[in-house]
Amino acid sequence: MKKPPTLPYYQPWIGEEEKNQVIDTLDSGWLTTGPKTKKFEQEICTYVGAQQAVALNSCTGALHLSLVALGIGIGDEVITSPFTFAATGNVIHHAGAKPVLVDIRRDTYNIDPQRIEEAITPRTKAIIPVHYAGQPCDMTEILEIAKSHNLFVIEDGAHAIGAEYEGRQIGTFGDMTCFSFYATKNITTGEGGAITLNDELLANRLRSLSLHGISKDAWKRYSSDTSWHYEIEDFGWKYNMTDIQAALGIPQLQRLDQFVTTRRKYAQIYNQELSQFPGSVVVPYESPNVKHTYHLYPLLVEKDRNGFIEKMHQQGIECSVHFIPLHIHPIYGREFGLKWGDFPNAEWVYEREVSLPLYPMMSEEDVWRVVHSVGKILMP
Ligand SMILES: *Cc1c(COP(=O)(O)O)cnc(C)c1O
Repeated sequence: MKKPPTLPYYQPWIGEEEKNQVIDTLDSGWLTTGPKTKKFEQEICTYVGAQQAVALNSCTGALHLSLVALGIGIGDEVITSPFTFAATGNVIHHAGAKPVLVDIRRDTYNIDPQRIEEAITPRTKAIIPVHYAGQPCDMTEILEIAKSHNLFVIEDGAHAIGAEYEGRQIGTFGDMTCFSFYATKNITTGEGGAITLNDELLANRLRSLSLHGISKDAWKRYSSDTSWHYEIEDFGWKYNMTDIQAALGIPQLQRLDQFVTTRRKYAQIYNQELSQFPGSVVVPYESPNVKHTYHLYPLLVEKDRNGFIEKMHQQGIECSVHFIPLHIHPIYGREFGLKWGDFPNAEWVYEREVSLPLYPMMSEEDVWRVVHSVGKILMP
């Protein structure tokens, strides 16, 4: 029997406009941060409804600079979820602060606001809620807690550009929101990220910190009269976005709503078909007050998750797991004494979670192929 072609876990959707824009940038002679980056930033502002956007080379850089710009550093504590990617926790350490993990809800897999308060100490300075899979966290409750304890809120929106909470785009709920344009995310610039916020002074500081702490960004520097002059005001980093990346991002952002619509449509097929196996799998729950982007489709498999992934692989379908909780990684154990058992909900989800392929490049036929493969494993 001929094996069907492998369905990859992810393939980016790159159209003619993306190619044209990149070639236009290459031909323009201006490759680094410049007019395309500015335009991309303006369009992000318009899309999410923020006053300011700072485009960067990654969401990791965005999260790091957010902490630094808000003055968070040595001796401080920052609360976040254990159910996230390395970046969220690592940048807290890079800023000089200590990550304090708070367990997730068993339904949304997002940080549980009811557990945040007990983790707050006099050293706590900020909360980083992670909108897991593209489902916004309980922002009303989180913002209330932050307000009453005088904490900053930096949203890890790596999965959440295009998501809505109570009818409003993710991007302006907290003090800053960080987005990712990594190859697999909702839209891509290859590698890339952005911070959105409503504070011009902070936005300028973020721009400076993204370019060595130099007082003017490269574009302004080379177009002013005293083009050679600059001042180093901070020990900054090199996190700026290039115009080649922004050239990809501009048309991608125009496609975002369509991408999210397709993701949601495919997720509905998965939900409908896979909820016919109660007891064997748990399909993702969607809160009534959000628009979920389904950056991920996290299916929980009750029995033998690893075996399930292997059987999907044998049928030519590649799956993944998001995430191995931070607290069970070696460095988090060594540095903070964390261990298995500390965050039972994150562990419960992790042990069962399988991310099924879900992306706009898939055809509806591919979606049904995944459904049938899951069915074959659950009802052999
Ligand atoms: C991908 C991801 C990041 C990091 O994004 P990069 O752009 O790759 O730096 C941060 N947080 C979460 C939850 C992610 O999935």
